[in-house]
Amino acid sequence: MTETLVVGAGFAGAVCAERLASQGRKVRIIDRRPHIAGNAYDEFDDNGVLIHRYGPHIFHTNAKRIFEYLSRFTHWRFYEHRVLAEVRGKRLPIPINRTTLNGLYGLDLDEAGAAAFFEQVRTPRSPIVSSEDVVLNSVGPELCELFFRGYTRKQWGLDLSQLSAGVAARIPTRTNDDDRYFTDSFQFMPADGFTAMFRNILDHPNITVELGVEFESLDRRAFDRIFYTGPIDGYFGYRLGRLPYRSLRFEHEHLPDTDQAQPVGTVNYPNAHDFTRITEFKHLSGQKVKGTSIVREYPCAEGEPYYPVPRPENEALFRQYKALADAERDVVFVGRLAQYRYYNMDQVVGAALGATE
Ligand code: UDP
Repeated sequence: MTETLVVGAGFAGAVCAERLASQGRKVRIIDRRPHIAGNAYDEFDDNGVLIHRYGPHIFHTNAKRIFEYLSRFTHWRFYEHRVLAEVRGKRLPIPINRTTLNGLYGLDLDEAGAAAFFEQVRTPRSPIVSSEDVVLNSVGPELCELFFRGYTRKQWGLDLSQLSAGVAARIPTRTNDDDRYFTDSFQFMPADGFTAMFRNILDHPNITVELGVEFESLDRRAFDRIFYTGPIDGYFGYRLGRLPYRSLRFEHEHLPDTDQAQPVGTVNYPNAHDFTRITEFKHLSGQKVKGTSIVREYPCAEGEPYYPVPRPENEALFRQYKALADAERDVVFVGRLAQYRYYNMDQVVGAALGATE
């Protein structure tokens, strides 16, 4: 029987490989990196702390089907992520909620008071097209400057007005004091980490994993179909021009004499420093080891592709690549880089399940 090739061993590729293998196909999955799990890769650092090499990955979903699918490959640890933003010397909840307003302005608003506050400061925008529209429409100019514009400039190298609405729309505004980053019905971390979960996903007699292998080095004629999860413009040799992907540089640090560096998993720095945020991994894993490990994220234009950059001109170029992709026989494009979508992990799993049904 001929093999099916899966290019990339992150969420998109691993789930495609598992589904195809379970359907009785022989699957070869390759990754150019020396490890599985893509950017969700986690590992124990030299001090025994479980860290995410490519920045914090926090699983959350409202899709029971996706949670149940992944539950075949991992046990879970309940974890609700919380984020504080350092603004005017204070650490305040983001998403902006009642506590944020009261802390920032020295107020004592109840829920109705918080709603009235937003109503007073917001700048109604219609239609809502850009991320600036989203933020001004919900919280107005001052909170926009304090919490969003600087962070966004660092993260994307663009102004809020240059990004599609979906980017800022990831962050809601709340009148209550719910300080969870996500409100999804399933918020869990894989109990033994993401890499262990990927090992289980790929542990199938029909799956061969090959690491440190470039797609371009293989003879494609050996495969009946290809599931490609890399950047779509790269697949086509950038023939229509480059699609921008935002990259990150990570600065990992171990603090041997500190058991807890910060009160929550992530602290955002919208207006100071070149990094956007610091994440302390022990919050995510619940590990009880001595010392702690943190990571600072420095966004950059060059480097490994991490994020598509959602804005109309990029979407237009993607559409042209998508037309080429649709005409490509026996090749399926899946995942954040191949579909040029700012997918969360659960959405990638959903896309991979959909592509292999
Ligand atoms: N954002 C912001 N300030 C914050 C948090 C988020 O301006 O304190 C904006 C920013 O543009 C960011 C986007 O909202 O890129 C999405 O944030 P999220 O935390 O979802 O980004 P991710 O974790 O995917 O990097």
